[in-house]
Amino acid sequence: MAQHAAGLASEKEARDVAEAARESEWSGPSFVRELFLGRFRLDLIHPHPAEDTAETARAKPFMDTLRHFLKRVDSDMIDRTGDIPEEYVQELRDMGAFGIKIPTEYGGLGLSYTSYVKAMAMVTSKDGSLTALLSAHQSIGLPQPLKLFGTDEQKQRFFPRLAKGAISAFALTEVDAGSDPANMHAHAEPSADGKEFILNGEKLWCTNGTRAELFVVMARTPDVVVNGKARKQITAFIVEASTPGVEVVHRCRFMGLKAIENGVIRFTNVRIPRENILWGEGKGLKLALITLNTGRLTLPASAAGGSKALLQASRTWANERVQWGAPIGKHEAVAQKVAMMAANTFAMESIAGLTVGLAEQGHYDIRLEAAIAKMYNTEHGWHIVDDALQIRGGRGYETADSLRARGEQPIPIERAMRDSRINLIFEGSSEIMRLFIAREAVDHHFKTAFALVDKDSSKSEKAAAFGRVMKFYPTWYPARWIGKGQLPGSFGEFGKLAGHMRYAERHARKLGRAIFHAMVKLGPKLERRQLVLFRAVDIGAELFAMTASCVKARMLGEQGNKEAATLADLFCRAAKVRIDQLFAGFYGDFDGEMYRVAQQVMKGEHAWLETGIISLLDDEASTTASRTTAARNVEVPQPV
Ligand SMILES: Cc1cc2nc3c(=O)[nH]c(=O)nc-3n(C[C@H](O)[C@H](O)[C@H](O)COP(=O)(O)OP(=O)(O)OC[C@H]3O[C@@H](n4cnc5c(N)ncnc54)[C@H](O)[C@@H]3O)c2cc1C
Repeated sequence: MAQHAAGLASEKEARDVAEAARESEWSGPSFVRELFLGRFRLDLIHPHPAEDTAETARAKPFMDTLRHFLKRVDSDMIDRTGDIPEEYVQELRDMGAFGIKIPTEYGGLGLSYTSYVKAMAMVTSKDGSLTALLSAHQSIGLPQPLKLFGTDEQKQRFFPRLAKGAISAFALTEVDAGSDPANMHAHAEPSADGKEFILNGEKLWCTNGTRAELFVVMARTPDVVVNGKARKQITAFIVEASTPGVEVVHRCRFMGLKAIENGVIRFTNVRIPRENILWGEGKGLKLALITLNTGRLTLPASAAGGSKALLQASRTWANERVQWGAPIGKHEAVAQKVAMMAANTFAMESIAGLTVGLAEQGHYDIRLEAAIAKMYNTEHGWHIVDDALQIRGGRGYETADSLRARGEQPIPIERAMRDSRINLIFEGSSEIMRLFIAREAVDHHFKTAFALVDKDSSKSEKAAAFGRVMKFYPTWYPARWIGKGQLPGSFGEFGKLAGHMRYAERHARKLGRAIFHAMVKLGPKLERRQLVLFRAVDIGAELFAMTASCVKARMLGEQGNKEAATLADLFCRAAKVRIDQLFAGFYGDFDGEMYRVAQQVMKGEHAWLETGIISLLDDEASTTASRTTAARNVEVPQPV
């Protein structure tokens, strides 16, 4: 039996909870899902969704007001004081910024998701704390799950308040439940008459929690028995902050996003009317995951918006700053950074715009594209902020206030770096995004063939799997060797980008084959080879980014913009180098050795290296150290 730390779910329980909440059906087509099966379905994303000019015109008055407001906002003050003044919040309320997507019939602006993310990109280019306020409310806070799952009565009750600026928050995370919701302790029991639920527990890092009027709280409700086994239930509740028993016990402070309204929220015997359950009992985790599927479309656009502002600041400085007899942008080392910033920003914008455009179509299954967009854009955004800081040199590291005090232009690169680091962690960390994408990437193979190699499956399950295998693979596999990308001159409509499209088609098939070969080679063990799976995910992400960039460049080209193809070309050249490297080291030359050394390091076998230092672990942290010792006893099968 696998041991596990007291009160925490075992690895199997964690997987079971995640699996039960997973949306296992595909409601619509997905380019990326097809890509992992080695099928390059360009028709699904080409042509790039065209701009809805009527919507742009409808959004214009709001976007103009927002732009004027942002120009006046003193973001250095917000960063310095760690607070967003109430006047700013009220101004945002007055212009409708808390109800951008809420239908007009409920008092919202009724704008599209595209307009919403464009607004968030603009806000991010100025102030990350303001983005956190508006986005935690609208991307994951009550308006989003209410729109997706609320009853008419709930919509009537809450939308008008939310549109007027009643701030909301999304409360999923707890001390023991970060990426792993199976460890959730907050629980709600039905009252004796069944009319209410009584909520107890504590939520951590709840953005907007310190200012919210309304919360969406995920909590455990009594288990149900399925096939003789107890199954954990998580239910989503709408909770009024004014209800007795709701308490903000701590405001959290971070390296960046200094004014984020984030806290620890305690719920003590909070009585919630049954009518405040969202979607249904036991559906809370699925609701949270679905909310995040679309909610996380905001971050890719925000990351692109932030990167544009950094690109502008960097190219200006690369021109102005003269060292060693030339503007620093004329030195090759800086020049390549500027070039790649522009190319990567273009790719990020292509990915974000395409993904949101596909989501707007309604029939497209956006889960994988959204997860890649979140992961890819936040990671590339982080490299861009790092390069921008390097290009600005010492001034990049200096605070805007200090620059201003000595008479220099207060470009807040240092703040941008602090503010953007969290993007790789919240709304699904990079690792969790890769795990999620990998799970879906191998899903078809698992569904088809897994029972054949699974030692726990019965004879009849194996026989059924054999039938499925014989039906699918004899046609699918050979077809992964032949395709349009081998034909010189194919994808000619992409002009100078046609070669990249041919490469993408060929390597999509190669990726499909590589995943299949890995399944055959590693069998069920593949599930634990995170590094192999992550390489497959990264190849898929690069191919998606290449295709999105070429498709967007082509659309812009048709509108007369010839420069976009230059950026797409450079981006694709760099992506191809990365893809080739990933394929070359697909199984990793020393994955096993790294894993073994990591286990030695964690056991303290290399503590001899940690001499001559002042330990970062103070007395309080020794509590954490003892928990690490407990965790060391967890039995997890070794991946390699
Ligand atoms: C500023 C801020 C705002 C936030 N806002 C909200 C909010 O509004 N609402 C809310 O509910 N939560 C919020 N969160 C929580 C946030 O979503 C979590 O931090 C995130 O889910 C990760 O959880 P964790 O920090 O506990 O990391 P852990 O789950 O403890 O993970 C630690 C590290 O291990 C990695 N890891 C974990 N499991 C695996 C695995 N199986 N395989 C490989 N790697 C793994 C993770 O990627 C991470 O790098 C916020 C957090 C912050 C810091």
